[in-house]
Amino acid sequence: MSASPIALVLHGGAGARRGVDYSREIAHMRGLVEAARDRLAAGAAALDVVTQTVTELEASGLYVAGRGASPNTAGQYELDASVMDGASGRAGAVAALQGFESPVAVARAVMESTPHVMLAGEGAAAFARAQGLARVREPDAWFTRAGADGSDKHGGGALAHGTVGCVALDRAGRLAAATSTAGVFGKLPGRVGDTPLIGAGTWADDEVAVSCTGQGEMFIRAAVAAQLAFRRKFAGAALEAAARAVLDQVAAYGGDGGLIAVSRTGEIAMPWNSEGMKRAWLTRDGDIGSAAF
Ligand code: ASP
Repeated sequence: MSASPIALVLHGGAGARRGVDYSREIAHMRGLVEAARDRLAAGAAALDVVTQTVTELEASGLYVAGRGASPNTAGQYELDASVMDGASGRAGAVAALQGFESPVAVARAVMESTPHVMLAGEGAAAFARAQGLARVREPDAWFTRAGADGSDKHGGGALAHGTVGCVALDRAGRLAAATSTAGVFGKLPGRVGDTPLIGAGTWADDEVAVSCTGQGEMFIRAAVAAQLAFRRKFAGAALEAAARAVLDQVAAYGGDGGLIAVSRTGEIAMPWNSEGMKRAWLTRDGDIGSAAF
């Protein structure tokens, strides 16, 4: 059996605003895609590559996820993340997690080390502590509040936002997706968006892997990530057409954002209907790119 092509897309959120200089993020995302390409080319599993890439996006402090998180209206940093392995259908997620450096690492541990898919709030934190995962001890000193200056607050009003995510296809033909966020700016304590919800913000099966970014309330209502997959699986829709159709439904609900997707054959799609979406990609032909608009 010949090896599958490899392909990957990552995003740094669909809250990009025209007039803001994202050259640092664009260079950073490109570097991550180059590193991911090398790992995929060497035979790494898509699941490991998406987890690692999202961990690095979180750690950079450049995006509204992980270190770049913004607080909720009570001044707390409550983060959401999820990961899904298309080959096995396994998934892990955390919601409203406080106190840990890498929410996606906690989500991955939920998948690997519990019989559950999602842990939330204090239970998620207790689990992460028991796993010995890296903690944030002084939130106000640790978090960089990326985008708090308005650079990620596009026309979303009360639901302005930022997120990171990655989807990949590996040499063995396996797909995986991971997503991590601080959610929308000025969110209420306890608010959970689409990012940790399997089928809304993240999805992977044997046909497609999807990671979303945008006004999570509308992405939940449209079950965006699973709807895209099901449009392909059950209606035979082309990747780009399926991706556009689900974003149209988000728009019909009054929301905006974008998504990244990769198919089993290595096609990629990265549409958005907000002002811009920070993203970088590796095509199945080996082309690499990175852009915000
Ligand atoms: N979708 C995320 C949320 O609603 C935010 C984002 O993607 O920027 O929590």
